[in-house]
Amino acid sequence: MEAKQNTSKLLLNAQIVNEGKAFFGHIFIRNEIIEKILLANDDYSELISESTEIIDLSGHLILPGVIDIHVHFREPGLTQKGTIFSESRAAVAGGVTSALEMPNTNPPTLTEKELDEKLAIAEKTSFVNYGFYMGVSSNNLNDVLNINPEKACGIKLFLGSSTGNMLIDDEQILDKLFAESRLPIVVHAEDEKRILENTARIKSDYGENPPISVHPVIRDVEACYQSTKKAVELAKKYNTRLHIAHLSTAQELEFFSAGPLAEKRITTEVCIHHLWFTADDYDQLGTTIKCNPAIKTSEHRDALRNAVNSGQIDILATDHAPHTREEKAQNYFNAPSGIPLVQHNLQALLELVRQDVFSLETVVEKTAHNPARMFGFEKRGFIREGYFADLVVVNLNSSQTVDSTNIFYHCGWSPFENYTFKSKIICTFVNGNMVFENFSTPQFNFSNAHKL
Ligand SMILES: [Zn+2]
Repeated sequence: MEAKQNTSKLLLNAQIVNEGKAFFGHIFIRNEIIEKILLANDDYSELISESTEIIDLSGHLILPGVIDIHVHFREPGLTQKGTIFSESRAAVAGGVTSALEMPNTNPPTLTEKELDEKLAIAEKTSFVNYGFYMGVSSNNLNDVLNINPEKACGIKLFLGSSTGNMLIDDEQILDKLFAESRLPIVVHAEDEKRILENTARIKSDYGENPPISVHPVIRDVEACYQSTKKAVELAKKYNTRLHIAHLSTAQELEFFSAGPLAEKRITTEVCIHHLWFTADDYDQLGTTIKCNPAIKTSEHRDALRNAVNSGQIDILATDHAPHTREEKAQNYFNAPSGIPLVQHNLQALLELVRQDVFSLETVVEKTAHNPARMFGFEKRGFIREGYFADLVVVNLNSSQTVDSTNIFYHCGWSPFENYTFKSKIICTFVNGNMVFENFSTPQFNFSNAHKL
């Protein structure tokens, strides 16, 4: 793509974290691309021309922008909850530079035509680079197997979860899908039969209005374990490229090995809410943290944290899934599942770095490097010369309390409301454009992003 004009930026005095290393230096960006990475003492004077914009980052952190491989931006059809514009705008305020969006919109993304419609909306309105998953229903298997891989980033399979006509339990469909899919299959693994049995039991014990704390009893460990087991068995049988979304239990970890992502046919993801919240939080946060799979006890959270460090978990994502306050204010059975998270994921992870749960290098690897490796995104996910300037700048010495003045979701709320993060996103570059800046007050500068 040809840039309209020749622009250059010099980001001075940053602490760059990339590929397992942290060092002080400067980054020179020309148009969309990182042209030069310099060490702190290198001479940069000959890079500067009259038109170069010089931005002194005074020692702030620079990380490769987050590539969130699991978001729900709700468009088309569910725009009371969010749009590609509103949610991608919140995403850049959280340091996200690319996002992969799920198919349970209205209509669901089950054909090339529906993918084309989403791509057309994103081309005009997305702040972040984008890709879309295609869903599997009981009657679109041929569309899925024949999809142009340029149109879809992967296949999303709801293996036994309640998402209308995208719930797949048909053995013949599953066998053919796992045997023949050319794209990675991303699975939501929860056993529907088990969930229905648990639901019936809870209804007979509590009636129609149980406390929210029954959620991990209905969507229990066994429901996750059985469904993940099934997905892994199928993938092994057919040597399928499988990715298990949002792991939530210690038990499921037994199926996964540690090691570099590039050597795996089966990869895993954990989302920020399963690393942050526990079942103890239902009392205070109620249906705001109702999500599928459910947030479980602290022993599961701790096991998932360990698995991030051991390498059994490859990718950190959000499953960003906004709903309106009114929808969430309903009782347990009627409040929809899903939490808005894409804006605060990186700040929450940096909080866990501060608490010595993760290293900064691990966070960078699993939010940027591994997502780029998994999908083969060219020239993204790393701070390297010749790569796209998708970058986030963070001040680790400034705090920010989450409140209505700085939540950018269309739904206007966050489960982190009133929490004070001890870091602040200062600016975000997507393809070399500073689309979000927060040196004093938050400001957005829309610039068309790219399809991944
Ligand atoms: Zn999801």
